[in-house]
Order: sequence, then C-alpha cells, then structure tokens
Amino acid sequence: MSRILAIANQKGGVGKTTTAVNLACGLAQNGQRVLLVDLDPQGNATMGAGVEKRTAMPTAYQVLLGQADIPASRLRSQRGGFDVVPANRELSGSEIDMVEIESREYRLKAELARVAHEYDFVLVDCAPTLNLLTVNALAAADAVLIPMQCEYYALEGLTDLVATIKKVKARLNPAIEIEGLLRVMYDPRSTLAQQVAAELKSHFGDKVFNTVIPRNVRLAEAPSHGLPGVVYDPASKGAQAYLELAREVLQRYGIAVQQTQASAN
Ligand code: ADP
Ligand code: MG
Repeated sequence: MSRILAIANQKGGVGKTTTAVNLACGLAQNGQRVLLVDLDPQGNATMGAGVEKRTAMPTAYQVLLGQADIPASRLRSQRGGFDVVPANRELSGSEIDMVEIESREYRLKAELARVAHEYDFVLVDCAPTLNLLTVNALAAADAVLIPMQCEYYALEGLTDLVATIKKVKARLNPAIEIEGLLRVMYDPRSTLAQQVAAELKSHFGDKVFNTVIPRNVRLAEAPSHGLPGVVYDPASKGAQAYLELAREVLQRYGIAVQQTQASAN
C-alpha cells in the first residue's frame, strides 16, 4: 500500500521542492518504490529530478484532465532512483481547463489509486498557492509534510495552512493528517531561528521532525546539475540531513531502514 504525502506550504521559496526531490531520493536509497508527482507549473521538481520539463509530454496536466494516465506520463529519474510525473507551464492552465470536469478535486486521487500498488511512497510537490492543484494534492494525500523556515512570520503562515487542512479534512478528505513540520534552511547561529524552532516544538510537539535541514549551498547547487542534493554531494551536511529525514519518515511508519550507497555516486 502506498503512502501519499503532499509537500505543501502556501509560501514560495521555503524548500518544498528541495524536500520533495531529496526525500524521494532518500526513500529510494532505502529500497522504497517512490513516485514524485510535480504539481507546480514551474516544474522545478521535474528538473531537480533530472527530467527535462520542456519536452515532457504527457505531463501532470494531461493526467489531471483525464487525457493520459500516470503510466503514460511518468519518467524515470535515473540518478534519483524514482519515477516522476513531470510538470511544466502547461499546468498553469489547468485551473480553468478543469472547470468542466466532474469531481475535479479528486482527479489526482483517482489516478493515483490506479498505480498505488506499484509504489511504497508517493510524494506530491505542491505549488505555493492554495489553488485547485494543491486541493487535488490534499484531497489525495494521507498526510501533509510542511517544510518551513524558522523566521518571524513562519507561525502566522502556518495558521493559514492548518486552517486549510482542517477545511480539506471536513469537506474532501477526512483521513488527512499533518505528517510533520520540517525545519529547513536552518541557521543554528541565529537566535531568532532558535526561538522559532523551540516555539514550533512547544506548539506542535511530536509533529515536528527531529531532523533539521541546515542551510547548505550544495542543496541549492544540485538542481542546476539535474541531480537531487543527496546524489550531487552525498557527504554534504544538507544531503546528510535529508538522508536522516528519510530514515525518520521510515521509522515513523515502522519500515526497516536499509540505507545503501548504491545510487549515491
Ligand atoms: P519552494 O519549492 O518552496 O519554492 P525550493 O525548494 O525551490 O522552495 O527552495 C527555494 C530556493 O532555496 C531554491 O533556490 C533552493 O535551491 C534553495 N534551498 C532550498 N533548501 C535549501 C537549503 N537547505 N539550503 C540552501 N538553499 C536551499
Ligand atoms: Mg517548489
């Protein structure tokens, strides 16, 4: 049975895509069968996985519109060791193009159900908005993973997202849970970051992952090489942190950790 995790936060530039790509790769390195669905028209997760977004066809757009299925659209991240349903600019038209589709909030859920037996984890990289695409991700997800920077306004933004998740739970997906809050781009020398990190822990307790992702330039460089950070420089602090996150996720689900270096060179 696959576990579907939406990686969401309505703010842009908070590390959603970096988390989606590196967690996908980290889980794959632990022998998990992983599908990464790119639901952001920017296609950054697609490119970060080493898949060319410009020529990808069909993409998540055709999947959502019922013009292609996931087996027809998925491509392999060769170095990442996982499958990708790619996205590109075409996806930005989906909001309007889906208006006439029946049960349009459940399009992704329906398509994922058909391939669920092929994967242990499905990660959905969301756009930084609460649009129909993100609603599709939340309606399909078992849980939401929220990457956040430990800055002054972080908790405020979180309140909005938690309210949205509650609405989705009431109206579309009673089973949805918050998988966890992930502190990313963390600078341990910043007093403010320390304060916000501690505040998060006291508000959300066990929902906050123990793993903290540091600010690390190797993670930022990796996408320009079409590689997940954990493949680009496995020894870097950022890569090590994402591998630790993969182990923490597996432990939460009671799955044995079997880190190999097979795909890490
Ligand atoms: P989002 O998907 O939420 O918009 P991204 O994952 O694309 O955010 O990250 C935004 C930018 O920050 C990107 O340029 C990315 O490479 C960089 N970045 C993400 N995480 C880190 C990190 N831990 N350390 C340094 N740079 C990071
Ligand atoms: Mg992104």
